Amino acid sequence: MITQEDIDAFKEDDWPMDMDTYQRKAKTTAIYPKEVSVIYPALGLAGEAGEVANKVKKLLRDHNLDKEAIKSELGDCLWYIAILADDLGATMSNIASKNLEKLGRRKAKGTLNGNGDER
Ligand SMILES: [Mg+2]
Repeated sequence: MITQEDIDAFKEDDWPMDMDTYQRKAKTTAIYPKEVSVIYPALGLAGEAGEVANKVKKLLRDHNLDKEAIKSELGDCLWYIAILADDLGATMSNIASKNLEKLGRRKAKGTLNGNGDER
């Protein structure tokens, strides 16, 4: 049964939304067995990334980019990232700030264009 609390969770009165608020709201829709935590969202993320790629691929065939469909799939990716991060005990803001720190170090070292995780 959908409760008023469920409906309130999706009201758009807190836009723009910070990443951790998004993650907290996304968690309210995460339904999978605890014993498959990490695995479930990681596989889901891979699947959704494939859906993004598949929609972009159609640019080659149809010469048309369905931006709205791609944006929707990006949202699905975001959901799985938020849930995977939570399963790993991380907040979205933590993931984002660590990523920006990493990219900043690479930029400072002039290795943004290189290869490998440890640049
Ligand atoms: Mg999708």
